[in-house]
Amino acid sequence: MLPACIGSRSLRAVARQQLPRLSTSLPRCSSSSSCCPPPPPNSFFSSSPTIKKFKMASSSDDRPPSPAEVSEYLRETHDRLFENNRAWAADMRQKDPTFFERLAAGQSPEYLWIGCSDSRIPAEAITGLEPGEAFIHRNIANLVCNTDLNVMSVINYAVRHLGVKHIIVCGHYGCGGVKAAMTPKDLGLLNPWLRNIRDVYRLHERELDDIADEEARYNRLVELNVEEQCRNIVKTAAVQQSYAKNQYPIVHGWVFGFHDGLLKDLKIDFRAMLNNVQKLYNLVD
Ligand SMILES: [Zn+2]
Repeated sequence: MLPACIGSRSLRAVARQQLPRLSTSLPRCSSSSSCCPPPPPNSFFSSSPTIKKFKMASSSDDRPPSPAEVSEYLRETHDRLFENNRAWAADMRQKDPTFFERLAAGQSPEYLWIGCSDSRIPAEAITGLEPGEAFIHRNIANLVCNTDLNVMSVINYAVRHLGVKHIIVCGHYGCGGVKAAMTPKDLGLLNPWLRNIRDVYRLHERELDDIADEEARYNRLVELNVEEQCRNIVKTAAVQQSYAKNQYPIVHGWVFGFHDGLLKDLKIDFRAMLNNVQKLYNLVD
């Protein structure tokens, strides 16, 4: 996977000039800021692994791509996914002729995965799971807010209807959402979303303020954010009632590291957390 900072200067220029902008000014690089100059604001292509392909189509680094070249780039980057899809489907069918028959029959995943939208953490790929094994929800900074109908519907469906056995909240070091929440700045529409993380900081203000090293404090906030989102899951009626009846699901908090590709289990004591939460949030009949 290419680092976020690798990109085409000319392509970024044309992206800024001619293409719709995605509004985000989240910090992109984590600990490797020394190797990465600040990204251009709102760059649509800045993290695309196909940038080099486009760059090759341009005769000079300094010449901005023409509208025709941009159009060709967009067509190729779109069509590439269908080419990949056809190859994947053929490969799966060759490995297991009944694969799609089973896929069409329904799903019974063991895991609910709640992760960050960051493109560098593909849940199935890093855990070796196959299609049908994990129900997936992702958002910026892997948050579980009780007013977010999206994540609440996902948890409800996964627990009550799919009967998942494990719920995993997976954050990651170098999370742009968490970094942004540590920055006292107006970020527009992201303000209410990031405030959930600022609230996590406030809840653990003393511990975090005592960490002098900024990188270490940032990493610890990533971990505490995962822990608080696990707590938010434990507060739901679906989880409490299912656990009382079935002894599952169990909630886990993990953190992914870009530097080695490994998952760290925060070893959250789910049962202790449940007991503690139920002092105030007991929703078991
Ligand atoms: Zn993130």
